Amino acid sequence: MSTTDQTLTPAELEWQHDVPRSRAFQDIYFNQAGGIAETEHVFLVGNDLPERWQNLPEDARFTLIETGFGTGLNFLCARDLWLRTAPAGARLHYISFEKHPLTQDDLARALAHWPQWSGATRALLAQWPVPMQGLYTLLFDDGRIRLTLALGDAAEMLARIDARADAWFLDGFAPSRNPQMWSEALFAGIADHSGPGTTFATFTAAGVVRRGLTQVGFAIAKRPGFGRKREMLTGTFQSGYTAAASKPWLLRPGEQPAKRRAIVIGAGLAGATTAAALARNGWQVEVLEQHAGPAQAGSGNAQGALYIKLPTQPTQQSRLHLAGLHYSAALIRTLQAQDSASGDICGLISLALDAKAARHQQQLLDTGLYPDSLVQPLSQAEASARAGTATGAGGLLFPHGGWACPPRVCATLLAAPSIRCHYDTTVETLEYDREQRQWRINGGVFCAPVVVVCSAERAGQLAPLAHLPLKPIRGQTTRASVSPDTPTLNTVVCGEGYVSPPQEGKYCFGATFRLRDDRLDVREHEHEENLDLLERALPQLAASLRRQPREGRAAFRATTPDYLPIVGPAPDADWVLRHFARLSKDANWAFEAQMQHLPGLFVNTGHGSKGLISCPISAELLLSQIENTPLPLPRDVAEALNPVRFLIKGLIKRSI
Ligand code: SAM
Repeated sequence: MSTTDQTLTPAELEWQHDVPRSRAFQDIYFNQAGGIAETEHVFLVGNDLPERWQNLPEDARFTLIETGFGTGLNFLCARDLWLRTAPAGARLHYISFEKHPLTQDDLARALAHWPQWSGATRALLAQWPVPMQGLYTLLFDDGRIRLTLALGDAAEMLARIDARADAWFLDGFAPSRNPQMWSEALFAGIADHSGPGTTFATFTAAGVVRRGLTQVGFAIAKRPGFGRKREMLTGTFQSGYTAAASKPWLLRPGEQPAKRRAIVIGAGLAGATTAAALARNGWQVEVLEQHAGPAQAGSGNAQGALYIKLPTQPTQQSRLHLAGLHYSAALIRTLQAQDSASGDICGLISLALDAKAARHQQQLLDTGLYPDSLVQPLSQAEASARAGTATGAGGLLFPHGGWACPPRVCATLLAAPSIRCHYDTTVETLEYDREQRQWRINGGVFCAPVVVVCSAERAGQLAPLAHLPLKPIRGQTTRASVSPDTPTLNTVVCGEGYVSPPQEGKYCFGATFRLRDDRLDVREHEHEENLDLLERALPQLAASLRRQPREGRAAFRATTPDYLPIVGPAPDADWVLRHFARLSKDANWAFEAQMQHLPGLFVNTGHGSKGLISCPISAELLLSQIENTPLPLPRDVAEALNPVRFLIKGLIKRSI
């Protein structure tokens, strides 16, 4: 049975002297006496990792995939070995499937066994996702290790990830107790995500596992098992790897960067998060920005909400936003620890201000798709108590929502030592120099083999990206100072607009939407509009702020026809239009697997008013596409963001 997009059932544990045991599977997670020694013997040595990791090149990327994250003991052991043996410039991508995640409390109790790893345990607990199917990105040790938790059934989620393993940890309860997991679909998926030299190790020597893995192309070896277990299995994949994509135009570029040098165009949220992700991974980055400082256009508001709108039927957008909310909230918590004015994950209340909104919220809760820890209902009285001032209605509480100050977030991210910012620098031209294999900006003033265009609606003004259908939408926010009688808001509140708790003595709220308006003057009647929105949501706060002087700013949001951002490699548009021209006659034509991109050119734009949620995770996505490492988002979500989609839709439309 498919569990697509469901809330997952957390693990039900029995504790025997503080050692967790699964009630459903009647099996233990680790054995108390030799848990670490068993992991070392079976999984680390079983895959020859101590030796392999010691001999890695300085900038290696290594992908490890595990079935059954459980308590994370294997992860913590692997992390420890990686930090001790791998070169500082190497990066570990650790992907782990888990169908029944532990609750945060159970995880804390189980991991209390290993006080030597209390720092990593704290980091894991702080980034622990809600139990909802999907991929979640967690960073450890300044990004030397990236953990992707793939919550859901291993075989199902394996079909949705885009990754090639260097080594597998095949854990999961014993095949006799958990036959459903050790299925043919799992073995086939393992082969699909393996290449020449990929190894596996597993604690079990069961025939079904040995046969299953032999059949899909592994050469198997038996080794002595741990403790009382006589045997375990290891193996090496003997076949090749075929990169997969649902359509040929969605194939990844696939080459490895020769030099880690990139130019990022734009210093808003998209540019700053992209530059920071590259810098964290050993790249020298130059950021070119037309304004005099970071975040002066669409990302320039003093406060923005970390907010997602959930649908009753999951969409690619909601999957992106769920992964994005998780990742952005972790980022803001980290930045807040350094600078409390960066933002606050203080919770967010979405009010149901009319009957239609109330019906929609009830339908959402009734779907059973979303766990309590993600969203829970509040009566009007509860909402008012939580917010700290009277609300115009009840609504939904998102405990992981909050606000951030985009200009501070951008400035902090851009302060990394390997990022150089060039302000007051407008990019006029972008051309590829085939001989030098690099991009030339403004006739060669700036050059790099990799360029990421993060300049919102201006991206389409550069010749190679003229095919991107970006549209600016004007928006104005209002700020007003706190007076002695102004209520203090404790959470972000959204109705038809949004307002955050006061920052530096001022409230920031908004925002208006103006299509086909290309001016950026600040208008009194738009302040009134924002105050009207606020009044419906928080009448007492609005009444107080109406008496105060107000200021504001107007900016454009860059939006796309399908409301999804544009993130990924830039297609060679002429080649795509020629090569896939047949789509305009036959939308179902079967092409061979071939695609041409503009070498080293990538795009990250079109985030609309959702940049705080979608930019940080999109930056991780781009980094993976540039470095050719596992994608942090499900394959279908990444495909939905691909910049080629508009060219292809244009061709197909002509066939209808
Ligand atoms: N590797 C873990 C550790 O280091 O703590 C121990 C893993 S525990 C023995 C097995 C895990 O596999 C459990 O957390 C269980 O929920 C998970 N599991 C069982 N069946 C699964 C399935 N079909 N898909 C994904 N995870 C599954």
